[in-house]
Amino acid sequence: MNQTNSNSVGMLYVVATPIGNLEDITLRALRILKEVDLIAAEDTRHTKQLLNHFDIHTPLISYYREKEAERSEELVQKLLAGETIALVSDAGTPGISDPGAVLVKKAREAGVTIVPLPGPSALTAALSAAGIVDGTFLFLGFPPAKKGQRQKLLSAFVEAPWALVFYESPHRIDALLADVLAVLGDRQAFWARELSKLYEDLQAGSISQLLALTTGKKNRGEFVLIIQPGSSRQQAIGENVEEILRWYKENTELSLKDVSRQIAKDLGLSRSDIYQKALEVWAVTNEES
Ligand code: SAM
Repeated sequence: MNQTNSNSVGMLYVVATPIGNLEDITLRALRILKEVDLIAAEDTRHTKQLLNHFDIHTPLISYYREKEAERSEELVQKLLAGETIALVSDAGTPGISDPGAVLVKKAREAGVTIVPLPGPSALTAALSAAGIVDGTFLFLGFPPAKKGQRQKLLSAFVEAPWALVFYESPHRIDALLADVLAVLGDRQAFWARELSKLYEDLQAGSISQLLALTTGKKNRGEFVLIIQPGSSRQQAIGENVEEILRWYKENTELSLKDVSRQIAKDLGLSRSDIYQKALEVWAVTNEES
């Protein structure tokens, strides 16, 4: 349905802000942030710094995840009374793994015109540098923090024919990569971290190669991880069980038995088959070392 707006009703601008480099703010964003009556910000202190940098003095109101429902009611009332409001998050595009959707939905339902201002997002910046030739992807936001839930989510996408895109924090990137290796196999992948910042880092390689870059390191910066589609589950497993075993052998203290149990559970395969394979791999890597 078309958005309608009578002159007496305000407008809600959804404004993307930089994810690192302040030069990425758009001219339109600067104008709107100056002109609106109020800026609803995820963290007012954070946004205040951005506004100070650009000499903008528009009043701020906090709009954060835990208060979304309550604050949205209040903001919709202001919009209905004719105020214009800009919604921003700490970085990037509001509503993309950030608060915003609740207000947008309620405002639209109340008849307010929503105006999105395109601009920075880690998602599109990472995708633009990933080289996904067929152009299809599935954005899954932040994966669950708990291993079991994360593996369960990944296993739902074993057959997915699209690149999978995740946001991840530096302290969980190893765990995510290890689970991707265990559940989806050693696929080709790409990460973009510290986008638009001084230590911007783009890496393409297999999951095990990326894992080798993060394991045991103090990882800095937030990540966007893009995982290329696999062939089929069984093929991926067949090709990659040895790789996974080698990774466990080199990067964990787990016994051969425990590793076999874990991989068999993760991949839904027979423990004795994995155990036999593990004996071979363990023997080889012992000879090599
Ligand atoms: N709304 C934001 C957007 O449009 O990109 C995303 C907000 S979400 C809370 C934060 C996550 O986005 C980070 O954990 C990271 O995965 C990703 N991210 C944000 N800034 C980034 C950057 N400069 N480089 C890489 N990833 C970034």
